[in-house]
Amino acid sequence: MPRSLFLPHIEAMSGYVPGEQPRGGTLIKLNTNENPYPPSPRALTALVAAAGEGLKRYPDPLGTVLRTAVARKHGVDPSMVLAGNGSDDLLTIVTRAFVGPGDVAVYPEPSYILYQTLLEIQNARAAVASFRDDWTLDADAFATVARGARLVFLANPNSPSGTTLSPAQVAAIAARLDCPLVVDEAYADFAETDCVALVREYPHVIITRSFSKGYGLAGLRLGYLIARAEVVEGLTKVKDSYNCDALALAAGAAALDDQPYLATTRARILATRRRLADALPALGPAVPASAANFVWWPLGAAAEPTYRTLKDRGILVRLMRYPGRPDGLRITVGTDDEIDQLLAELRQIMT
Ligand SMILES: *Cc1c(COP(=O)(O)O)cnc(C)c1O
Repeated sequence: MPRSLFLPHIEAMSGYVPGEQPRGGTLIKLNTNENPYPPSPRALTALVAAAGEGLKRYPDPLGTVLRTAVARKHGVDPSMVLAGNGSDDLLTIVTRAFVGPGDVAVYPEPSYILYQTLLEIQNARAAVASFRDDWTLDADAFATVARGARLVFLANPNSPSGTTLSPAQVAAIAARLDCPLVVDEAYADFAETDCVALVREYPHVIITRSFSKGYGLAGLRLGYLIARAEVVEGLTKVKDSYNCDALALAAGAAALDDQPYLATTRARILATRRRLADALPALGPAVPASAANFVWWPLGAAAEPTYRTLKDRGILVRLMRYPGRPDGLRITVGTDDEIDQLLAELRQIMT
């Protein structure tokens, strides 16, 4: 038996650890930023309609029905859209396309932990630029770190902070880079601004979007990216031929076409987010202004015991630790009822 069958850099990896996904039970689940509301009924109708005879055929490799719906929503050409099996699939495709062994890619820290994992798989190296204490970035310092890099990731809104950089701030970063800049907009459906328009001005900007958060379809696995047509063409060579199944493509297109439904669930989540953000400072530190469907509560030493006590009482939040920063809890905005129960428990625990 050889010592390891794996490539050395794969053997050395610890691997990405997703948030807990307990099955069954009655936990209030506020740990992975899922939408508390069901997806659009139109998405479910489209999914059922696609679930018949048609499944014996391979799906459309380019997901034309979804591309067309994305193009309609964002006012871009369908040739600028690529569908993915969740936005994580698109992040994988982009990393495989641009980053090779020994290359450097950059992201701000703290941010989405998957970026590090994707680079480790490529046997590439991460260089990180720290957010300032107010969760903004110094564009010049960031560009200095990114000199010679092959790829830059920027989650906007960011996780775990929920904070967002304005399109002008992102443009200032884009203008200083000569490698592709992925603006990961998994939470943009909850924000007031987005960076899709930057793709026109900057040929190296790539926007990724998800159906998992805003559209309540995390279980479906669907996302899309928007970039210049020539970038999409190059990335198409890297993706699996049939990376999105027929059910996801049909349901996703219908969900995108039901923008009034998105507006309704979004408005509810934003109202609950405000209540949560207003209530927390009486129990601990204030939360940074969130443009996403979660808040970041930097509790420090109290984070872990609070996480454990909440879990014992049936409420799951995400405990996050980043070197050199206070530990914190990332709390998903659930329904009003779920957040009321969370606040009631916290009032008992913290006072
Ligand atoms: C949830 C999340 C994703 C992944 O979304 P999927 O579409 O479910 O793969 C990507 N980026 C960030 C920052 C996220 O939080």
